[in-house]
Amino acid sequence: MSRTCTVSLFQGPGNGFTSNNFELEPAARGEVLVAVTACALCRSDLHTIAGRRPCHTPAVLGHEIVGKVVETGGPVNDWNGRLLQPSDRVTWTIAASCHECFYCRNDLPQKCEQLVKYGHSEMGPRGPLGGLSTHCRLLPGTSIFTIPAPLTDQQVVPANCCTATSVAAVRRAGPIRNATVLVMGAGSLGVTVAEYSLREGAEAVVLVDIDAERLKSAETIAGVTVYHNNPPVDAMPEPLSQLTNGRGADIAIDVSGATSAVASALDWLRTGGRAVLVGSVFHSPPLELDTESIVRKMLTITGLHNYRPEDLAEALAFLSELPESARSLSLAGTAFSLSEIDNAVAAADSNEHLRVVVTPST
Ligand SMILES: [Zn+2]
Ligand SMILES: [Zn+2]
Repeated sequence: MSRTCTVSLFQGPGNGFTSNNFELEPAARGEVLVAVTACALCRSDLHTIAGRRPCHTPAVLGHEIVGKVVETGGPVNDWNGRLLQPSDRVTWTIAASCHECFYCRNDLPQKCEQLVKYGHSEMGPRGPLGGLSTHCRLLPGTSIFTIPAPLTDQQVVPANCCTATSVAAVRRAGPIRNATVLVMGAGSLGVTVAEYSLREGAEAVVLVDIDAERLKSAETIAGVTVYHNNPPVDAMPEPLSQLTNGRGADIAIDVSGATSAVASALDWLRTGGRAVLVGSVFHSPPLELDTESIVRKMLTITGLHNYRPEDLAEALAFLSELPESARSLSLAGTAFSLSEIDNAVAAADSNEHLRVVVTPST
């Protein structure tokens, strides 16, 4: 495969993308050059494009990526210890970590002191580190996963952000067997958290959103009760009350990031309940915490940002076991070529699909 690369460079909010071509250097020792076959536009890409999330430009965006190995710099193994070969279909952690610093040694590789995130960087001298490009260079310290054969690019493309983060959120919540789980936000993450919670043995999931359209896609998931919280109510939603004899949820996972949703999630937890906050990755009004109720209800509140490589391994196992009809396999809608990037962004902004895919190298 060729090393002639075309990249869609993001020039900053309001300035759109430019298309640039150049010849890539070969993979250095421990690196892998990948031809990007699919890259999904994640919410955080849309925040960057709209200027709600700071980013140095020109930047190569896109971090939910699937591709084919073009070449490796010497022998490079995947996560399972298999030697990577040209044409292998792979995905990888959204960041490269050093595996040696304080945070890496303390089980927080996503907070590595040397962290390099894909899809958020300026265009470097060694070429693109993001998915809106025909090629992406994987740096040493990236955990690379061979994609299980039956999964199509379209099905698997959200795995290394949306699915792996959902898996990490459920893990962070602690024991889930027979639990009633409240999920705030019915976008890609919410739907995946719901399906993965059930797979892990949750008894029921109540999925809450202010947008009736978003909830529609989750209505058919067995074990999920959807609740349209618009106009938002303070009282515990009837379905949650019924499922728990008025006690409240055992576990609440917020993926919406909306302050009011986080407040409701804490209110609707039972005594001894556990909350995992995932969605608050952009600036939002602070939450007034009722500390007395946290003490009296003995609540556990924890945050989660990104995930560990183990979570991506589990995400791929989860996706490959799902029936074709599962929502977590059909998050990605229309696909666009790299030259149609403006249309792809407009389609993603329209919210018609939970995910829009760009296919740079196909
Ligand atoms: Zn993402
Ligand atoms: Zn580190």
